[in-house]
Amino acid sequence: MQLLTAAFLLALGLMVAVRWWLASRQLAAVRAHRGVVPAAFAASVSRADHERAADYNAARLLLGRLELLFEAAVLLLVTLGGGLGALDAWVARLRLGDPWHGVVTLALLALVMAAAGLPFAIYSTFRIESRFGFNRTTPALFMLDMLRSLGVALVLGVPLLAVLLWLMAASGDAWWLYAWAVWVVFGLLVSFAWPRFIAPLFNRFRPLEPGALREVVEGIMSRCGFATDGVFVMDGSRRSSHGNAYFTGVGRHKRIVLFDTLLERLEPPEVEAVLAHELGHFRLHHIRQRLALSFGAALIGFALLGALARAPGFYAALGVPARSTHAALALFALVVPVFTFPLSPFASWWSRRHEYQADRFAVAHSSGAALATALVKLYRDNAATLTPDPVYSAWHDSHPPALARIAALGKGA
Ligand SMILES: [Zn+2]
Repeated sequence: MQLLTAAFLLALGLMVAVRWWLASRQLAAVRAHRGVVPAAFAASVSRADHERAADYNAARLLLGRLELLFEAAVLLLVTLGGGLGALDAWVARLRLGDPWHGVVTLALLALVMAAAGLPFAIYSTFRIESRFGFNRTTPALFMLDMLRSLGVALVLGVPLLAVLLWLMAASGDAWWLYAWAVWVVFGLLVSFAWPRFIAPLFNRFRPLEPGALREVVEGIMSRCGFATDGVFVMDGSRRSSHGNAYFTGVGRHKRIVLFDTLLERLEPPEVEAVLAHELGHFRLHHIRQRLALSFGAALIGFALLGALARAPGFYAALGVPARSTHAALALFALVVPVFTFPLSPFASWWSRRHEYQADRFAVAHSSGAALATALVKLYRDNAATLTPDPVYSAWHDSHPPALARIAALGKGA
């Protein structure tokens, strides 16, 4: 399994190099176009807004590049550097027995990894977001959010890990199939519980009050034949001035969530067009397709883990001396993203295709012109770049570049 060590190092080196190169390309593109607003946006985006967006994106890219190196170093320390092995040996001294030894090891590992990323999150929120006027969270709320996230991760993660580790140990060679079934059921339960029980821990949701906007919203939903649990306004403004809208829940329990920061900016016809786009994702089965893809990918993942966990060399090749179910799970979760990184352009391409399709749906059921003005406002106020590097955008962006997207809307999408 020396081969695996070499392959891991090679894939990690390649991933870091490609991501660094892409970020540098994006940085150069944003800086090169800083002085001139693209002609298509000249009427709606001021030079000052455009320059601010360029500076904002540049600051985030610079931090992102640094974080990339840091994350790679942490990953190496945890795996080949012996970090996970040492943690495992330390937890073994507590004599917790199975599956709790594994659960505690994995929870501590997750905690260490999250703590390592914390300085970047703090810098991003309180330096970059604050400098550009987006941040509205306070250090106290930031801390509270962190504790709440930790609580949610414990409540959801501990039982899931305990069941997975127990299955790995007790259900024979086909454990991965049962584990996958548990994973799917757990995923569906969480997407059911999220809007009802978890999201309200972080934000307040109020039903959209009666009035002109609500009539517009109900009109577009009935025209698209859409039934929901309701349309809610979320106090996104507690943390950030970035505006957004999303769609949550499964089955008959779907809700539409509009950020208050979105409603501050958009006129009712624009809200309608944005909503029509979101409904498009649903009517065109994008959400179902994404869920199916993620469950399919998980099946491949568990099958692969089933094979790897049995291979004795797997653990040593990645820096863990003692073989165990939890080490297999941890190493797999840590190392797989390095190997699947080359797939990300395909995922991005698929997502952009869905965005174009949802835009076309919005044009057919609402107004392309209103969607275009809404998007321009959102690009401007969220300081999204209007001039991305084409290669960076093709690799990373889940949404089409601003110019291409608006142009497609102009052509009747
Ligand atoms: Zn979309």
